[in-house]
Amino acid sequence: METMQFESILLPGIEAKRPIVIAGPCSAETEEQVMTTAKQLKDRGVKIFRAGIWKPRTRPGAFEGIGTVGLTWLKRVKNELGMYTATEVATAKHVSEAIKYGVDLLWIGARTSVNPFAMQEIADALAGTDMPILIKNPVNPDLELWIGGIERLYNAGIRKLGVIHRGFSSGDKKIYRNLPQWHIPIELRRRYPNLPMFCDPSHIGGKRELIASISQQAMDLNFDGLMIESHCDPDCAWSDKDQQVTPDILDYILNLLVIREGKQTTESLSELRKQIDELDDGLLEILAKRMRVSREIGTYKKEHNMQILQTARYSEILEGRINQAVKFGIDADCMQKILEAIHEESVRQQMAIMNE
Ligand code: PEP
Ligand code: MN
Repeated sequence: METMQFESILLPGIEAKRPIVIAGPCSAETEEQVMTTAKQLKDRGVKIFRAGIWKPRTRPGAFEGIGTVGLTWLKRVKNELGMYTATEVATAKHVSEAIKYGVDLLWIGARTSVNPFAMQEIADALAGTDMPILIKNPVNPDLELWIGGIERLYNAGIRKLGVIHRGFSSGDKKIYRNLPQWHIPIELRRRYPNLPMFCDPSHIGGKRELIASISQQAMDLNFDGLMIESHCDPDCAWSDKDQQVTPDILDYILNLLVIREGKQTTESLSELRKQIDELDDGLLEILAKRMRVSREIGTYKKEHNMQILQTARYSEILEGRINQAVKFGIDADCMQKILEAIHEESVRQQMAIMNE
């Protein structure tokens, strides 16, 4: 597929200044809650108001969204407060309803972007419109699936595209509700430098206390914008109450953010980058040497009719090296992944020799 060329998702009057902020409650609950929250956000400078109208919930019986009547409230937000409105769509029907009520920006949720049939249905429903669309990452950490969703909309002629990083589902809920796995959005940015990227610290953190630090990390990684859940009375929210903040707190968080200039390359930075390049060269050389020795071992094992995988030896290598790495300040999980990858390649090279 030819490289995708995107058009700006910036609605008229929205400055390109980082972060572009989209804020509002997880769900539209009542007309009063929507109007109160929107007014408070507007007074604090927020220009794009989000609210979920249809909520994809893990279990039936949880609040599944107020439905179409909520779109009339979003219309009031737009007409009376002059804000842009945004909501989540998951089906062709949602798309046509949202457009009918003049919603300005649509996003596709993590439980939808995971499903190519659903993405295709939405793409077909959007064909011929020039709606700006933000695609959240799929719940599972699969960059190709995320890109596949972007391509489906692109192929339907949608050009005002962007993405939202909302973290990835995992059994490990010690800190985050959804693990950030920052390397995934970073790789997406490397492949599509012009694709606008938002971060959703509410769904990554799952807790109010984490919103500020995740937002700061996103800014440091050069994200364009933030989507943050904000509710006039978070403790009484009908969905995701632990991760919403009042418009006041949101304003406080946003004011504390330090926005560093991403493009400047100072002298000292390029000096440091040179050092990294040299170190990487060294790493590669050592890896190549290690593989050569590994192949020699392969030859020896073949001649002596030994099996390739010597589990005891492998466990010993893993354990020893990881302990050493931790002493050097390297994370144990990270070291384990590196060693496993190296080991996998060693085994592959030895197999090639055995089967020669
Ligand atoms: C939401 O934005 O409220 C939502 C349901 O998000 P996600 O799709 O990221 O879970
Ligand atoms: Mn939510």
